[in-house]
Amino acid sequence: ATPLAQADPQVARSISRELNRQQSQIELIASENIVSRAVLQAQGSVFTNKYAEGYPGRRYYGGCEQADVVEALAIERLCQLFGARYANVQPHSGAQANTAVMLALVKPGDTVLGMALSAGGHLTHGAKPALSGKWFNAVQYGVREGDCRVDLDEVERLAHEHRPKLIIAGFSAYPRTLDWARFRAIADAVGALLMVDMAHVAGLVAAGVYPSPVPHAHVTTSTTHKTLRGPRGGVILSNDEEIAKKINSAVFPGAQGGPLMHVIAAKAVAFGEALQPAFQDYARQVVANARALGETLREGGLDLVTGGTDNHLLLVDLRPLGLKGNQTEVALERAGITCNKNGIPFDTEKPTVTSGIRVGTAAITTRGLKEDDCREVGRLILDVLQALRRSPEGDAQVEMLVREQVQTLMSRFPIYPEL
Ligand code: PLP
Repeated sequence: ATPLAQADPQVARSISRELNRQQSQIELIASENIVSRAVLQAQGSVFTNKYAEGYPGRRYYGGCEQADVVEALAIERLCQLFGARYANVQPHSGAQANTAVMLALVKPGDTVLGMALSAGGHLTHGAKPALSGKWFNAVQYGVREGDCRVDLDEVERLAHEHRPKLIIAGFSAYPRTLDWARFRAIADAVGALLMVDMAHVAGLVAAGVYPSPVPHAHVTTSTTHKTLRGPRGGVILSNDEEIAKKINSAVFPGAQGGPLMHVIAAKAVAFGEALQPAFQDYARQVVANARALGETLREGGLDLVTGGTDNHLLLVDLRPLGLKGNQTEVALERAGITCNKNGIPFDTEKPTVTSGIRVGTAAITTRGLKEDDCREVGRLILDVLQALRRSPEGDAQVEMLVREQVQTLMSRFPIYPEL
C-alpha cells in the first residue's frame, strides 16, 4: 500500500476511485484535460512546502533559490509560447487572474464591458453574482439572435454609449473565433483598455491553430488547465512594461499572498511540453475531433449553436430532441460519458435546467482518440439521448450497454497505467 493509503485510507480510497473514473469514462467537459505524469509529479513535489512571497530575485523569504529557478523558467517559457514580453504565473486560478487585472486597471464603480454569462461569457466578465458584477458598473454584450455570433457592431455601440474603462473579450462557451483586432480598435476609439481572457483556447493559441489575442490585447489572461493542459491555475500576459508592473503589484501583494510554488513548477513543465512540436499536432487534432463529433451529433438530429465549431468545444442545442440539459447530463453520466448542462443563447430554461450541453475534445484528444473514434463517441451519445427521449427517466438497459461500449473504447486509450 502507498503511504497515503496507510495514513489516510478514506482520502486514498477517494483518489483511487477518482483515478478509476477518469480512466474508464469519456471526459467531454470542455474545460478539463489530462495532464502528463511529469506535470502531476511536479505538482505533487516538495515545493508545496515553500513560501516565496514576491518575485524571482525579490522575495520576502529566505531559501527561495530553487523557487526562483522554476518561476523564472515558467515565465520564460510562457513568454516564448505566446510571444509576450511580460508574464505573471502566480495567479492561483483564472478567476484570480481576472480579479488581479481589474485591481490593476480599474477602480470600483468604473464601467467595464464584457460578454454576458448567458451568451457564453464567464462570471468574472461582469456577471451580477460575481465581484466583477458587484464592484463595477458592468455592461454586457451578447450574441446576435440570428446566427448566435458575437455582434461587434453591438460591442462598438455599447462602448460608445457607456465609455467603459475596460473591455473584456473571451468566453467559456463560444465555439467560434473572435476578431481580436476589431475589439482593440473599439477599445482604442473610446480610450478603454482591452483584456482578453483566452482561458478556453490558450492551448490552441499556443499551437497556432486559433488566432492569438496577445498582439492585440493590453492584457491577456488565461487558465492553465484547459486546452493548455497544465495544472489548475492562472496566468497574465502583456507587452507593456507599465501595465506589467501594475499587474505584478495587483497579484502580489494586491490580491494574493504566497504563490503556490508546486503549481508554478507544474506550470513550467506544462509550458515546456506545449513548446514541443507534438503539441501542435495535438491542438490540430483537438479541433478536427470537435468537428467530427459535431457532425455526428448533427446527423443524429441535434442542433449546434452557430452550426459548428472553430475550436475545441460544441454547444449542443437539445431542443430538436425535446430534451433538457440537466436530464441529459445525468443520463450521459450514468452511461459513463461526462459533460455539463449549459444554457444556449436566449435560453428560456433556468440555469439549473438549460436547453443545452457543452462538450469539448481536449481531454479525449490527449488520450489519443481520432476523428473516427469521436464519431463513435457521438453515436454513443445519440443512443443515450434517443433512449431518454422515449422515457424521461432514461433507459437503464441502453445506458448499461453504452457504458460497456464506453469502457471498451477507453481501454484502447489508457491513461496513467502505472498508477
Ligand atoms: N475565464 C474563463 C473564460 C473560464 O472559462 C474560466 C473557467 O471556467 C475562468 C476564467 C475561471 O477559471 P478558474 O476556474 O481557474 O478560476
